[in-house]
Amino acid sequence: MPENDNVKVAVRVRPQNTKEREDFSGNRCLEVDISSNKITLDSKPTPKPFIYDFVGDEDITQEEIFEVIGMPIASSCLAGYNGTIFAYGQTGAGKTFTILGPSTLDVNDIESTQRGLLPRSIEFIFSSVKKEIKRCSGLEFLIKCSFLEIYNEQINDLLSDQKNLQVREDVKKGVYVDNLQQETVANYEETLELLYKGIRNRHVGATSMNKESSRSHSVFTLAIESKEKQDNVWNLRSSLFHLIDLAGSERQKSTETMGERLKEAGMINKSLSVLGNVINSLVDISEGKNRHVHYRDSKLTFLLKDSLGGNSKTCIIANVSSSSAAYGETLSTLRFAERAKMVKNSAIANVDTLGTITELREEIKKLQLKLKEAK
Ligand code: ADP
Ligand code: MG
Repeated sequence: MPENDNVKVAVRVRPQNTKEREDFSGNRCLEVDISSNKITLDSKPTPKPFIYDFVGDEDITQEEIFEVIGMPIASSCLAGYNGTIFAYGQTGAGKTFTILGPSTLDVNDIESTQRGLLPRSIEFIFSSVKKEIKRCSGLEFLIKCSFLEIYNEQINDLLSDQKNLQVREDVKKGVYVDNLQQETVANYEETLELLYKGIRNRHVGATSMNKESSRSHSVFTLAIESKEKQDNVWNLRSSLFHLIDLAGSERQKSTETMGERLKEAGMINKSLSVLGNVINSLVDISEGKNRHVHYRDSKLTFLLKDSLGGNSKTCIIANVSSSSAAYGETLSTLRFAERAKMVKNSAIANVDTLGTITELREEIKKLQLKLKEAK
Protein backbone atom coordinates (compact mmCIF):
# COMPACT_ATOMS: atom_id res chain seq x y z
CA MET A 1 0.00 0.00 0.00
CA PRO A 2 1.38 3.41 -0.91
CA GLU A 3 1.59 5.73 2.04
CA ASN A 4 0.06 9.05 1.21
CA ASP A 5 2.58 11.23 2.81
CA ASN A 6 2.95 14.94 2.37
CA VAL A 7 6.39 16.32 1.71
CA LYS A 8 7.76 17.24 5.14
CA VAL A 9 8.98 20.77 5.52
CA ALA A 10 11.43 21.95 8.15
CA VAL A 11 12.73 25.47 8.66
CA ARG A 12 16.11 26.06 10.27
CA VAL A 13 17.08 29.52 11.48
CA ARG A 14 20.83 30.02 11.62
CA PRO A 15 22.67 32.21 14.14
CA GLN A 16 23.41 35.75 12.95
CA ASN A 17 26.88 36.37 11.58
CA THR A 18 29.24 39.19 12.57
CA LYS A 19 28.05 41.48 9.78
CA GLU A 20 24.42 41.04 10.77
CA ARG A 21 25.23 41.62 14.44
CA GLU A 22 27.48 44.63 13.86
CA ASP A 23 26.11 46.40 10.78
CA PHE A 24 22.47 45.64 11.49
CA SER A 25 22.69 45.68 15.32
CA GLY A 26 21.44 42.10 15.46
CA ASN A 27 17.91 43.30 14.61
CA ARG A 28 15.58 40.38 14.02
CA CYS A 29 12.79 40.01 11.46
CA LEU A 30 11.28 36.88 12.96
CA GLU A 31 10.53 35.00 16.15
CA VAL A 32 10.69 31.24 16.56
CA ASP A 33 8.41 29.13 18.71
CA ILE A 34 9.89 25.64 18.63
CA SER A 35 7.15 24.13 20.79
CA SER A 36 4.51 24.85 18.13
CA ASN A 37 6.85 24.72 15.09
CA LYS A 38 5.91 28.30 14.34
CA ILE A 39 7.84 31.18 12.83
CA THR A 40 6.33 34.62 13.11
CA LEU A 41 7.66 37.07 10.57
CA ASP A 42 7.70 40.68 11.68
CA SER A 43 5.76 41.92 8.66
CA LYS A 44 3.88 45.20 8.52
CA PRO A 45 1.18 46.06 9.44
CA THR A 46 0.62 42.71 11.20
CA PRO A 47 3.08 39.92 12.01
CA LYS A 48 2.61 36.83 9.86
CA PRO A 49 2.73 33.34 11.40
CA PHE A 50 3.98 30.32 9.43
CA ILE A 51 3.63 26.75 10.71
CA TYR A 52 5.79 23.85 9.49
CA ASP A 53 6.35 20.18 10.29
CA PHE A 54 9.46 21.14 12.19
CA VAL A 55 11.20 24.35 13.16
CA GLY A 56 14.75 24.65 14.50
CA ASP A 57 16.14 27.82 16.02
CA GLU A 58 19.72 29.08 16.37
CA ASP A 59 20.42 26.57 19.14
CA ILE A 60 19.51 23.40 17.31
CA THR A 61 22.48 21.08 16.91
CA GLN A 62 23.57 19.11 13.86
CA GLU A 63 22.81 15.95 15.81
CA GLU A 64 19.22 17.02 16.54
CA ILE A 65 18.64 17.92 12.89
CA PHE A 66 19.88 14.46 11.94
CA GLU A 67 17.67 12.74 14.50
CA VAL A 68 14.54 14.56 13.42
CA ILE A 69 15.07 14.63 9.66
CA GLY A 70 17.93 12.39 8.54
CA MET A 71 17.41 9.28 10.61
CA PRO A 72 13.73 8.61 9.73
CA ILE A 73 14.43 8.97 6.01
CA ALA A 74 17.66 6.92 6.14
CA SER A 75 15.81 4.17 8.04
CA SER A 76 13.04 4.14 5.45
CA CYS A 77 15.63 3.85 2.68
CA LEU A 78 17.02 0.73 4.33
CA ALA A 79 13.50 -0.69 4.30
CA GLY A 80 13.21 -0.10 0.55
CA TYR A 81 11.61 3.35 0.35
CA ASN A 82 13.13 6.10 -1.75
CA GLY A 83 14.15 9.15 0.25
CA THR A 84 15.08 12.73 -0.57
CA ILE A 85 16.33 15.65 1.48
CA PHE A 86 16.55 19.10 -0.12
CA ALA A 87 18.24 22.13 1.42
CA TYR A 88 16.63 25.33 0.14
CA GLY A 89 17.37 28.99 0.87
CA GLN A 90 19.30 32.09 -0.11
CA THR A 91 23.09 32.04 -0.30
CA GLY A 92 24.57 32.16 3.17
CA ALA A 93 21.42 30.86 4.88
CA GLY A 94 23.02 27.57 5.96
CA LYS A 95 22.20 24.98 3.26
CA THR A 96 25.71 23.56 2.96
CA PHE A 97 26.15 23.72 6.73
CA THR A 98 22.97 21.65 7.14
CA ILE A 99 23.85 19.09 4.46
CA LEU A 100 27.63 18.78 4.97
CA GLY A 101 28.73 20.89 7.92
CA PRO A 102 31.01 23.95 8.08
CA SER A 103 33.44 24.36 5.19
CA THR A 104 36.34 23.83 7.61
CA LEU A 105 35.51 20.11 7.79
CA ASP A 106 37.30 17.68 5.54
CA VAL A 107 37.52 13.99 4.83
CA ASN A 108 39.38 13.34 8.11
CA ASP A 109 36.60 14.72 10.30
CA ILE A 110 34.79 11.43 10.47
CA GLU A 111 33.43 11.97 13.96
CA SER A 112 33.06 15.75 14.22
CA THR A 113 29.95 16.96 16.07
CA GLN A 114 29.71 19.64 13.36
CA ARG A 115 29.03 17.12 10.60
CA GLY A 116 25.85 17.69 8.63
CA LEU A 117 23.08 15.38 7.46
CA LEU A 118 25.01 13.75 4.63
CA PRO A 119 28.00 12.29 6.50
CA ARG A 120 25.73 11.36 9.41
CA SER A 121 23.28 9.57 7.11
CA ILE A 122 26.08 7.61 5.46
CA GLU A 123 27.46 6.60 8.84
CA PHE A 124 24.00 5.63 10.07
CA ILE A 125 23.27 3.53 6.98
CA PHE A 126 26.50 1.56 7.21
CA SER A 127 26.19 0.99 10.94
CA SER A 128 22.58 -0.17 10.52
CA VAL A 129 23.61 -2.48 7.68
CA LYS A 130 26.29 -4.01 9.91
CA LYS A 131 23.75 -4.67 12.66
CA GLU A 132 21.18 -6.10 10.23
CA ILE A 133 23.71 -8.48 8.71
CA LYS A 134 24.70 -9.71 12.17
CA ARG A 135 21.06 -10.25 13.05
CA CYS A 136 20.29 -12.19 9.90
CA SER A 137 22.78 -14.45 8.17
CA GLY A 138 20.94 -14.67 4.82
CA LEU A 139 20.98 -10.92 4.26
CA GLU A 140 23.19 -9.14 1.73
CA PHE A 141 23.53 -5.46 0.85
CA LEU A 142 24.89 -3.65 -2.18
CA ILE A 143 25.40 0.10 -1.79
CA LYS A 144 26.52 2.45 -4.54
CA CYS A 145 27.01 6.17 -4.57
CA SER A 146 27.02 8.85 -7.21
CA PHE A 147 27.49 12.61 -7.02
CA LEU A 148 26.58 15.21 -9.61
CA GLU A 149 26.10 18.93 -9.99
CA ILE A 150 23.68 20.81 -12.16
CA TYR A 151 25.40 23.94 -13.39
CA ASN A 152 23.92 26.15 -16.12
CA GLU A 153 21.34 23.42 -16.81
CA GLN A 154 24.17 21.02 -17.49
CA ILE A 155 24.71 17.83 -15.48
CA ASN A 156 28.35 17.21 -14.56
CA ASP A 157 29.61 14.10 -12.83
CA LEU A 158 31.56 15.01 -9.71
CA LEU A 159 33.12 11.56 -9.38
CA SER A 160 34.51 11.47 -12.91
CA ASP A 161 35.38 14.16 -15.45
CA GLN A 162 32.28 13.56 -17.55
CA LYS A 163 30.28 16.66 -18.39
CA ASN A 164 26.88 17.40 -19.87
CA LEU A 165 25.24 14.07 -19.06
CA GLN A 166 21.64 13.44 -20.03
CA VAL A 167 18.63 12.51 -17.90
CA ARG A 168 16.63 9.59 -19.29
CA GLU A 169 13.44 7.84 -18.32
CA ASP A 170 12.76 4.16 -18.74
CA VAL A 171 9.82 2.01 -17.65
CA LYS A 172 12.03 -0.39 -15.70
CA LYS A 173 14.78 1.88 -14.44
CA GLY A 174 12.69 4.98 -13.88
CA VAL A 175 14.52 8.29 -14.19
CA TYR A 176 18.31 8.07 -14.33
CA VAL A 177 21.38 9.93 -15.55
CA ASP A 178 22.98 8.21 -18.49
CA ASN A 179 26.66 7.29 -17.98
CA LEU A 180 26.82 8.66 -14.46
CA GLN A 181 29.60 7.07 -12.47
CA GLN A 182 28.30 4.81 -9.70
CA GLU A 183 30.85 3.57 -7.19
CA THR A 184 30.19 0.53 -5.02
CA VAL A 185 30.97 1.44 -1.43
CA ALA A 186 31.67 -0.84 1.51
CA ASN A 187 31.85 1.49 4.47
CA TYR A 188 31.42 5.02 5.82
CA GLU A 189 35.06 6.09 5.38
CA GLU A 190 35.20 5.01 1.74
CA THR A 191 31.96 6.85 0.94
CA LEU A 192 33.19 9.98 2.72
CA GLU A 193 36.32 9.93 0.57
CA LEU A 194 34.20 9.89 -2.58
CA LEU A 195 32.01 12.65 -1.19
CA TYR A 196 35.05 14.89 -0.60
CA LYS A 197 36.51 14.01 -3.98
CA GLY A 198 33.27 15.32 -5.48
CA ILE A 199 33.23 18.42 -3.29
CA ARG A 200 36.70 19.37 -4.54
CA ASN A 201 35.29 19.23 -8.08
CA ARG A 202 32.29 21.43 -7.26
CA HIS A 203 31.78 24.70 -9.03
CA VAL A 204 31.88 27.74 -6.80
CA GLY A 205 32.02 31.37 -7.80
CA ALA A 206 32.10 34.70 -5.99
CA THR A 207 29.16 37.10 -5.77
CA SER A 208 28.87 40.32 -3.86
CA MET A 209 26.76 38.48 -1.30
CA ASN A 210 29.06 35.64 -0.35
CA LYS A 211 32.52 34.83 -1.59
CA GLU A 212 31.95 31.09 -1.57
CA SER A 213 28.46 31.27 -2.95
CA SER A 214 27.49 28.10 -4.69
CA ARG A 215 26.13 28.61 -8.17
CA SER A 216 25.19 25.00 -8.75
CA HIS A 217 22.82 22.40 -7.38
CA SER A 218 24.54 19.31 -6.03
CA VAL A 219 22.90 15.89 -5.78
CA PHE A 220 24.52 13.08 -3.79
CA THR A 221 22.77 9.73 -4.19
CA LEU A 222 23.05 6.41 -2.42
CA ALA A 223 21.52 3.44 -4.24
CA ILE A 224 20.77 0.74 -1.68
CA GLU A 225 19.91 -2.81 -2.64
CA SER A 226 19.42 -5.77 -0.36
CA LYS A 227 18.42 -9.37 -0.71
CA GLU A 228 17.37 -11.72 2.03
CA LYS A 229 16.59 -15.41 1.77
CA GLN A 230 13.63 -16.57 3.81
CA ASP A 231 12.13 -20.05 3.35
CA ASN A 232 13.70 -20.44 -0.09
CA VAL A 233 12.28 -17.11 -1.21
CA TRP A 234 14.48 -14.10 -1.98
CA ASN A 235 13.17 -10.76 -0.77
CA LEU A 236 14.73 -8.01 -2.84
CA ARG A 237 14.64 -4.37 -1.81
CA SER A 238 15.99 -1.33 -3.59
CA SER A 239 15.91 2.36 -2.90
CA LEU A 240 17.49 5.66 -3.81
CA PHE A 241 18.46 8.24 -1.22
CA HIS A 242 19.14 11.73 -2.62
CA LEU A 243 20.66 14.56 -0.60
CA ILE A 244 20.51 17.87 -2.40
CA ASP A 245 22.24 21.17 -1.73
CA LEU A 246 20.39 23.63 -3.95
CA ALA A 247 21.90 26.79 -5.40
CA GLY A 248 21.02 30.06 -3.65
CA SER A 249 17.36 30.98 -4.11
CA GLU A 250 17.95 34.77 -4.03
CA ARG A 251 16.77 36.89 -6.90
CA GLN A 252 19.68 38.07 -8.99
CA LYS A 253 20.23 41.77 -9.51
CA SER A 254 21.67 42.49 -12.94
CA THR A 255 23.82 45.30 -11.55
CA GLU A 256 25.70 42.82 -9.40
CA THR A 257 26.02 39.96 -11.80
CA MET A 258 27.50 40.42 -15.22
CA GLY A 259 28.51 38.25 -18.14
CA GLU A 260 29.06 34.60 -17.17
CA ARG A 261 27.62 35.27 -13.73
CA LEU A 262 24.43 36.65 -15.22
CA LYS A 263 24.09 33.67 -17.55
CA GLU A 264 24.51 31.38 -14.57
CA ALA A 265 21.96 33.37 -12.61
CA GLY A 266 19.39 32.88 -15.38
CA MET A 267 20.06 29.17 -15.54
CA ILE A 268 19.98 28.73 -11.80
CA ASN A 269 16.77 30.65 -11.67
CA LYS A 270 15.41 28.42 -14.41
CA SER A 271 15.89 25.25 -12.36
CA LEU A 272 14.61 26.91 -9.22
CA SER A 273 11.70 28.62 -10.93
CA VAL A 274 10.71 25.31 -12.55
CA LEU A 275 10.97 23.74 -9.08
CA GLY A 276 8.57 26.44 -7.88
CA ASN A 277 6.22 25.78 -10.84
CA VAL A 278 6.29 22.03 -10.25
CA ILE A 279 5.42 22.56 -6.60
CA ASN A 280 2.61 24.98 -7.51
CA SER A 281 1.12 22.44 -9.95
CA LEU A 282 1.37 19.69 -7.32
CA VAL A 283 -0.33 21.91 -4.76
CA ASP A 284 -3.14 22.52 -7.27
CA ILE A 285 -3.44 18.75 -7.80
CA SER A 286 -3.62 18.20 -4.03
CA GLU A 287 -6.56 20.60 -4.06
CA GLY A 288 -8.32 18.48 -6.66
CA LYS A 289 -7.46 20.56 -9.72
CA ASN A 290 -6.39 18.95 -12.98
CA ARG A 291 -2.82 19.95 -13.82
CA HIS A 292 0.03 18.72 -15.96
CA VAL A 293 3.30 18.83 -14.02
CA HIS A 294 6.17 20.05 -16.19
CA TYR A 295 8.98 18.02 -14.60
CA ARG A 296 10.96 18.00 -17.83
CA ASP A 297 11.27 21.79 -17.97
CA SER A 298 14.48 21.63 -15.92
CA LYS A 299 17.21 19.07 -15.28
CA LEU A 300 16.67 19.31 -11.53
CA THR A 301 12.94 18.57 -11.56
CA PHE A 302 13.22 15.88 -14.23
CA LEU A 303 15.93 14.07 -12.29
CA LEU A 304 14.01 14.38 -9.03
CA LYS A 305 10.60 13.62 -10.43
CA ASP A 306 9.94 10.84 -7.92
CA SER A 307 10.96 13.05 -5.02
CA LEU A 308 8.16 15.53 -5.68
CA GLY A 309 4.68 14.12 -5.95
CA GLY A 310 5.98 10.58 -6.49
CA ASN A 311 7.39 7.48 -4.86
CA SER A 312 9.60 8.98 -2.16
CA LYS A 313 9.71 10.11 1.42
CA THR A 314 10.83 13.70 1.01
CA CYS A 315 11.86 16.48 3.33
CA ILE A 316 12.67 20.05 2.37
CA ILE A 317 14.76 22.02 4.82
CA ALA A 318 14.35 25.72 4.28
CA ASN A 319 17.27 27.67 5.71
CA VAL A 320 16.87 31.29 6.81
CA SER A 321 18.63 33.98 8.80
CA SER A 322 16.78 35.85 11.55
CA SER A 323 18.41 39.15 10.57
CA SER A 324 16.25 42.09 9.43
CA ALA A 325 18.84 42.54 6.68
CA ALA A 326 17.55 39.33 5.06
CA TYR A 327 13.83 40.13 5.43
CA GLY A 328 12.86 39.97 1.75
CA GLU A 329 14.60 36.68 0.97
CA THR A 330 13.45 35.15 4.27
CA LEU A 331 9.84 36.02 3.42
CA SER A 332 10.19 34.42 0.00
CA THR A 333 11.79 31.27 1.48
CA LEU A 334 9.06 30.95 4.13
CA ARG A 335 6.39 31.28 1.43
CA PHE A 336 8.07 28.67 -0.75
CA ALA A 337 8.27 26.31 2.23
CA GLU A 338 4.62 26.89 3.06
CA ARG A 339 3.54 25.83 -0.43
CA ALA A 340 5.87 22.81 -0.48
CA LYS A 341 4.12 21.47 2.64
CA MET A 342 1.00 20.80 0.57
CA VAL A 343 2.69 18.45 -1.92
CA LYS A 344 1.47 14.88 -1.57
CA ASN A 345 3.79 11.94 -2.24
CA SER A 346 2.92 8.27 -2.29
CA ALA A 347 5.87 6.20 -1.16
CA ILE A 348 5.85 2.43 -1.55
CA ALA A 349 8.57 0.08 -0.43
CA ASN A 350 10.38 -1.23 -3.52
CA VAL A 351 10.19 -4.87 -2.55
CA ASP A 352 10.27 -7.82 -4.90
CA THR A 353 10.35 -11.54 -4.30
CA LEU A 354 11.90 -14.33 -6.29
CA GLY A 355 11.31 -18.03 -5.61
CA THR A 356 14.79 -19.47 -5.77
CA ILE A 357 18.24 -18.53 -6.86
CA THR A 358 17.62 -20.55 -10.02
CA GLU A 359 14.75 -18.26 -10.81
CA LEU A 360 17.02 -15.30 -10.22
CA ARG A 361 19.62 -16.72 -12.60
CA GLU A 362 16.94 -17.36 -15.21
CA GLU A 363 15.77 -13.79 -14.90
CA ILE A 364 19.34 -12.55 -15.45
CA LYS A 365 19.70 -14.81 -18.49
CA LYS A 366 16.48 -13.45 -19.93
CA LEU A 367 17.63 -9.89 -19.39
CA GLN A 368 21.01 -10.60 -20.96
CA LEU A 369 19.27 -12.07 -23.99
CA LYS A 370 17.05 -9.03 -24.28
CA LEU A 371 20.11 -6.80 -24.09
CA LYS A 372 21.80 -8.74 -26.87
CA GLU A 373 18.70 -8.46 -29.02
CA ALA A 374 18.54 -4.74 -28.40
CA LYS A 375 22.16 -4.19 -29.54
P1 ADP B 1 24.68 28.36 2.07
O1 ADP B 1 25.20 27.01 1.73
O2 ADP B 1 23.20 28.39 2.24
O3 ADP B 1 25.17 29.41 1.14
P2 ADP B 1 26.40 28.08 4.36
O4 ADP B 1 25.96 26.77 4.84
O5 ADP B 1 27.67 28.16 3.63
O6 ADP B 1 25.25 28.78 3.51
O7 ADP B 1 26.41 29.06 5.63
C1 ADP B 1 26.99 30.37 5.60
C2 ADP B 1 27.89 30.54 6.83
O8 ADP B 1 27.13 30.44 8.02
C3 ADP B 1 28.97 29.48 6.91
O9 ADP B 1 30.12 30.06 7.44
C4 ADP B 1 28.38 28.47 7.90
O10 ADP B 1 29.39 27.74 8.56
C5 ADP B 1 27.59 29.37 8.84
N1 ADP B 1 26.39 28.68 9.37
C6 ADP B 1 25.30 28.34 8.70
N2 ADP B 1 24.38 27.75 9.47
C7 ADP B 1 24.92 27.71 10.71
C8 ADP B 1 24.46 27.19 11.97
N3 ADP B 1 23.25 26.63 12.11
N4 ADP B 1 25.30 27.31 13.01
C9 ADP B 1 26.51 27.88 12.89
N5 ADP B 1 27.00 28.38 11.74
C10 ADP B 1 26.21 28.29 10.64
MG1 MG C 1 26.39 26.46 0.09
